[in-house]
Amino acid sequence: TGGATAREIAGAEAYSAHNYHPLPVVIASAEGAWVTDVEGRRYVDMLAGYSALNFGHGNPRLIAAAKAQLERVTLTSRAFHHDRFADFCRALAELCGKDAVLPMNTGAEAVETAVKTARKWGYQVKGVSDGKARIVVAAGNFHGRTTTVISFSTDPEARAGFGPYTPGFDIVPYGDLAAMEAVIGDDTVAVLIEPIQGEAGVLVPPPGYLAGVRRLTAERGVLFIADEIQSGLGRTGRTFACDHEDVVPDVYVLGKALGGGVVPVSAVVASRDVLGVFRPGEHGSTFGGNPLACAVGLEVVAMLRTGEYQRRAAELGEHLHGGLAAMAAEGLLTAVRGRGLWAGIDVDPERFTGRALTEALLARGVLAKDTHGSTIRLAPPLTISKEDLDWSLERLREALR
Ligand code: PLP
Repeated sequence: TGGATAREIAGAEAYSAHNYHPLPVVIASAEGAWVTDVEGRRYVDMLAGYSALNFGHGNPRLIAAAKAQLERVTLTSRAFHHDRFADFCRALAELCGKDAVLPMNTGAEAVETAVKTARKWGYQVKGVSDGKARIVVAAGNFHGRTTTVISFSTDPEARAGFGPYTPGFDIVPYGDLAAMEAVIGDDTVAVLIEPIQGEAGVLVPPPGYLAGVRRLTAERGVLFIADEIQSGLGRTGRTFACDHEDVVPDVYVLGKALGGGVVPVSAVVASRDVLGVFRPGEHGSTFGGNPLACAVGLEVVAMLRTGEYQRRAAELGEHLHGGLAAMAAEGLLTAVRGRGLWAGIDVDPERFTGRALTEALLARGVLAKDTHGSTIRLAPPLTISKEDLDWSLERLREALR
């Protein structure tokens, strides 16, 4: 590690809260699937900002959209209308097959917004007694870091020491429809799940689970809220992970790639019956739906409408999973999960922690991130070339040997 890297890391240690444990690399620039550090070394980015960078670093279409908007107007607040708002909301609603959008900034804010939407819908539309609304969530979930969201986390690291917790949530095992059915009661207003659990290690639920959740929630008069913040917008080879089971939830929660890795953009997308519960003054955000965010988000939606990124994710995903299956067959990996250009891989904990493997990959020019224990996730930009993907898989094979 050179002097510039050491200086930057020492500065970060000295002046920032230690709520992360980054790999010892300091990125200075990036293009496509590649980043360059302050020493001039290059790496393939196999994390892609936890899928915020689905379209790659510095995507020319997104940078052009952002630059054009930077020259015009960047922020108005929602106290006034602006001329990018309607186009963005219409385009995103259409992409989702819905008719209303509530834009926010971060994923956690969008999840909070979905929770507030479901509660208000429960009281106003379903007729649940005030203060009684309950929401069913899955064990092992990751929906963000705010106090309400961590209140229904099952991860001690995310929760411990941050109470008191927000009540009103029932936690059931992920993938277990019978448990979900048993816990849904008269006061249940929503089921909130990730269609594939990302932070949990890219856990794909059993076949039929999403369709079962759809059937159950429709039968019981409960909203199905799909947190597609990480799984959505092309990553799995379809626009939404729910598409793989031809499921349309009542509420989509989106973020990450919606801002193209340029600006934070998130949204709750649903029917007018559901999002219509909000009246002026009841919810909002200074930056939510700002002109720069809308300009970039509109371009993201336009890019997704071509279908090109979903197709790439499906094709390259097959290639990625083929390569990983071969490594598993050779005994280099103990498990491989995922869908599209998204994989969670487990290594023998006797040989590697996830962290040790990411360090070995870093030394070979590949950036990846561990989740829990001996699991790492692979999620390169959907724009990565087959050659760069193969190159990265070769580096993984070397690191595992
Ligand atoms: N929901 C899911 C499924 C996520 O993967 C994440 C982030 O990893 C979030 C919510 C939170 O998003 P943010 O970090 O933008 O608040």
